[in-house]
Amino acid sequence: MGECLDAICFAFPGKVAGKGRPRFSSRGGKIRTFTPAKTRAAETFVKTFGRQAFAGRAPFNGPVSLSVCMMVAIPKSWSRAKRENAYWVTAKPDIDNTLKLLADSLNGIAWVDDSQIADVHVTRVYSPTATIDRTMVSIESLRNRPRHAPNCDYHVDQYEFECTCGLRRKAA
Ligand SMILES: [Zn+2]
Repeated sequence: MGECLDAICFAFPGKVAGKGRPRFSSRGGKIRTFTPAKTRAAETFVKTFGRQAFAGRAPFNGPVSLSVCMMVAIPKSWSRAKRENAYWVTAKPDIDNTLKLLADSLNGIAWVDDSQIADVHVTRVYSPTATIDRTMVSIESLRNRPRHAPNCDYHVDQYEFECTCGLRRKAA
């Protein structure tokens, strides 16, 4: 979709499959691990869109933030009442498996290695107007994000917290 400063965004049709567990095979007494075909296909799909968005630009090489929003079409079979109340998606695959697949797929494209991901937002919601599922991905470099002062400390007050440098404040 485009590029703005230190962020790159793209969208693609479909939900993201969960990362499948590695499978094992033994041949001649040697145990080998391999990625299930379904996971490989899903990773290839994500890579295609990621490469297009980065358009030859080098992967980010510092800390990055990853935001993912999956907009899911409401199943046609659902009753009117169920459709009207549909918002949060709670279904398989688990959201952490989805995140893992995305993180691994974009190695060498969005980041050199997914260990660079230091901030994550993943949301999945039903869309009342969508006819197909869509996934939106935003990757932002954290290099120039405001930072806490080196001597910053946190004050925790019940469930709220603020920091001494003032970057993080309690809600008013
Ligand atoms: Zn601070």
